[in-house]
Amino acid sequence: MERHEVAARSGLAVRLPEGRRLRIITPKGQQAADFFAYRADQVGEWLSPTHTWVTTRSVRPRQGDTFLSRFRRPMADFVEDGAGGVHDMMIAACDQGRYEQFGHRAAHANCSDNLRNAMQRLGHPIEVIPQPVNFFTNTAVEANGALVSPPNPVKPGAYVELLARMDLICVVSSCPFDLQVPGWTINAAGGPSELLIELR
Ligand SMILES: [Zn+2]
Repeated sequence: MERHEVAARSGLAVRLPEGRRLRIITPKGQQAADFFAYRADQVGEWLSPTHTWVTTRSVRPRQGDTFLSRFRRPMADFVEDGAGGVHDMMIAACDQGRYEQFGHRAAHANCSDNLRNAMQRLGHPIEVIPQPVNFFTNTAVEANGALVSPPNPVKPGAYVELLARMDLICVVSSCPFDLQVPGWTINAAGGPSELLIELR
């Protein structure tokens, strides 16, 4: 087994061959993990939540679901959910502009830059930021359609495990969101924390 730490607020890309499993763990709990996956030999094909949920008919990924690419091919099976179903597929990856929306003017670490940098380190400059799967992120859609993000209940040591259905490059970002926004809770009040990823 191969294990890597994704430091708080940073990102990491790893290669995951077909048939191998990737486990993502939040050791301290309550840490959003933005997850992206690309076909290893053709990075123009990436995991697409919108193509996934129209097939699974659930805006939340569930154990047993299969994540599809934007070309509707199976990329990864969600084989084990050790986080009680607290996951999101609707929130765009954070970027500098997201922090500026809340009045933060200085440069702020963000998941979009983490993705770009992680892919660049593997020799793949990317121009498009795909919609991520946000593991350990608590969102809900209310009856009137409102999107809400109540306090994050994910416990320390919670994890998810995925099985690669093709050779993948997987990117995990420890979301740096640390602003106090009424009614919108992403990470623990104490701020972002590290994630662990295990290749099994
Ligand atoms: Zn983020």
